[in-house]
Amino acid sequence: LSSHDTPRDNLGPRMVKGALYTYVRPEHSDSPELLGVSKAALKDIGLRDGEETSEDFKSVVAGNKIFWDKDSKEGIYPWAQCYGGWQFGSWAGQLGDGRAISLFESTNPATKVRYEIQLKGAGITPYSRFADGKAVLRSSIREYVVSEALNGLRIPTTRALALTLLPNTKVRRERLEPGAIVARFAQSWLRIGTYDILRARGDRNLIRQLSDYLAENVYPSWESLPSALSSSSAGIKAGHEAPSGVPKSTIQGGTGAEENRYTRLYRAIARRNAKTVAAWQAYAFTNGVLNTDNTSLLGLSLDFGPFAFLDNFDPSYTPNHDDHMLRYSYKNQPSVIWWNLVRLGESMGELIGAGDKVDDETFIEKGVTQDFAPELIKRAETIIQAVGEEYKAVFMAEYTSLMRARLGLKSEQENDFDELFSELLDTMEALELDFNHFFRRLTNLPITDLLANEESRRKAAKTFLHSEGIPQTAGVGEEEGLQRLGKWLQRWAERVAVDWGNDLDGDLDRRKGMKNVNPKFVPRSWILDETIKRVEKGGEREVLGRVMRMAERPFEDHWADETDRDARAEEERWCGDVP
Ligand code: AMP
Ligand code: MG
Ligand code: MG
Repeated sequence: LSSHDTPRDNLGPRMVKGALYTYVRPEHSDSPELLGVSKAALKDIGLRDGEETSEDFKSVVAGNKIFWDKDSKEGIYPWAQCYGGWQFGSWAGQLGDGRAISLFESTNPATKVRYEIQLKGAGITPYSRFADGKAVLRSSIREYVVSEALNGLRIPTTRALALTLLPNTKVRRERLEPGAIVARFAQSWLRIGTYDILRARGDRNLIRQLSDYLAENVYPSWESLPSALSSSSAGIKAGHEAPSGVPKSTIQGGTGAEENRYTRLYRAIARRNAKTVAAWQAYAFTNGVLNTDNTSLLGLSLDFGPFAFLDNFDPSYTPNHDDHMLRYSYKNQPSVIWWNLVRLGESMGELIGAGDKVDDETFIEKGVTQDFAPELIKRAETIIQAVGEEYKAVFMAEYTSLMRARLGLKSEQENDFDELFSELLDTMEALELDFNHFFRRLTNLPITDLLANEESRRKAAKTFLHSEGIPQTAGVGEEEGLQRLGKWLQRWAERVAVDWGNDLDGDLDRRKGMKNVNPKFVPRSWILDETIKRVEKGGEREVLGRVMRMAERPFEDHWADETDRDARAEEERWCGDVP
């Protein structure tokens, strides 16, 4: 994709037109201290354990080494991306990588997966606007931990490789804070905002180029984009992937439907996002700022500002204190991602609406001088609507399947949604129960206890409450609450018995399966706050590694060494309630 500048000195903040990135190099970091490396990320990117201790590695992740030779002009010069965005429903104009600089792309030789490696907090770029291009330690620790925690939960996300402290860089926020750099990577950092800016500027050529680039280079191969959307049902079945190895030419015309590669690309983007939001909902993760510039074209969790995992289940919860309308609250995430995807559909409208009439003449040569073709956009509207149905169907299928797994169920029964999921969520909300603790406790509970009698159910139900009982704010008496919970537990145990039988062996298998999907650890806000305080104020270093060990493998029973009692006690505390 065309860049704006050739490699040269940073010219500072400005409008960048007719390009999707600018060459810009990171600022030099003074006395950087490598605070942590994600072992999981190291492996995924294709580095060996131990390579993170080399001076080369440390220099690269601190922004002090780039792979560009000034004299021979060979190598790779770093760059920052241009994008725009709809923020809280309003058009915000040019945004871009204001404090992120990409260094290079790298392919893991074993998995063949390619990643774009970038530094966040390494200085200003053309897209810094009025800000300083820096990141504070506090927010960097949060991003570092949550990226790897989401990945540990198998939720698609951008990754964090390393965290570097810049002890001599003091960043002004509400107070002066230490600066830091997160070295991070993703298969793609492109976002809906990348299209938004082109659409706003009427840059039809780049929209076409960007779409081709995505279809050919970012999505594994465009032959594996979904096959044609049938007009009769945009349901789950219609969206299955085309068999691999089908030649391009037979797919290009679509299967009778006027569906070209851009429509299939749009659908693939919508489907990936649907699955990711489903996972957020199933694990009670809230991003907090789901603007289009924070919505990935690969369906990755992206940009970790005021994010949070829910503690008590509260659908209206938002971690964003400025979001008075609750636009980005937990319950609104699925619909707001679709809102963003409609913006994308509008940007791609001409390409989608052109059906099989996409050719270079229409879109390249005439493209620069013509306005967006209204009749094509009109046709795209119908297709976008159908993709909306597909988005809903994929979301529901994924959410249902994740919830089923979290509840230890194998078979699909029609009433599961109403009788089990909805009633559970309503009960959790009413009794102010902790969402993720609930599932882990269920994992450890033998169903025989629940099937025995009323009294044993009551006893079991009690273990799901907070230590102080049902919070006052819930306005539900303990007796009433335990009854309701007991009833649900009975229904659940009976349903589990349908799938696994009610003998001990079957139940052990069920519990083993549930353990693998119900984390013992999630990085709750209070744990992150504690970690930040201890690293920043107390000068502790080890604590970060201990939290990361749990974040990377959240389903484990224990992380610390058997003999390290203090570490074990601390981990148990982090896996428990708010202290
Ligand atoms: P966000 O709210 O994190 O999605 O950021 C919105 C825009 O502001 C993006 O273009 C960011 O790159 C930019 N931005 C945020 N913080 C800074 C900063 N400290 N320096 C430069 N740009 C920033
Ligand atoms: Mg952002
Ligand atoms: Mg941000």
